[in-house]
Amino acid sequence: MPFKDPDAQAAYWRRYHDRNRARRNAQARRRWHESPRTREYHRRYYREHRVENRAREHAATERWRQARPERELAWRLRIAIRKSLTGHPYPGALRLVGLTPEDVAHRLLPFLGGPCPECRVGVLTLRSAEIDHIVPLASAQTNDEVLQLNRLDNLRLICRRCNRSKGARPSLQTVPPP
Ligand SMILES: [Zn+2]
Repeated sequence: MPFKDPDAQAAYWRRYHDRNRARRNAQARRRWHESPRTREYHRRYYREHRVENRAREHAATERWRQARPERELAWRLRIAIRKSLTGHPYPGALRLVGLTPEDVAHRLLPFLGGPCPECRVGVLTLRSAEIDHIVPLASAQTNDEVLQLNRLDNLRLICRRCNRSKGARPSLQTVPPP
């Protein structure tokens, strides 16, 4: 754009840059984040400091889990299912038993904050509660039986102590969710 007056030209460009500063900065930041060099730098930094940061990392993970009990419970169930399947490649363990994370949350979340349905003592928290199969998973002989035992009405939360002492014994009482 031709300017007769150099001051007017300078003022024009100053205004132009002011208007576009936020957008340009965002662009630059994005480019910086996405550059392979930056990624490599972060990867190396993470590797080198991972040992000294382990406690911090652990605390962050723990906070994340506590803040999302529904995700955490679905995750635990997934792991339980995977562990009990024999010789199965188990992609999508929850889908395999016909559940979604929402189903699991809907069934198990009401147990949190209440007493343990087995011993009736204390208050179940995400930390103290464990997923219990009322008819125990250990009684399953085949993968099909494992899948059967992961129906929602066979699932509940009980306290860690009860779960440990229960072992593979089936519970005598079947408790509806609170
Ligand atoms: Zn208990």
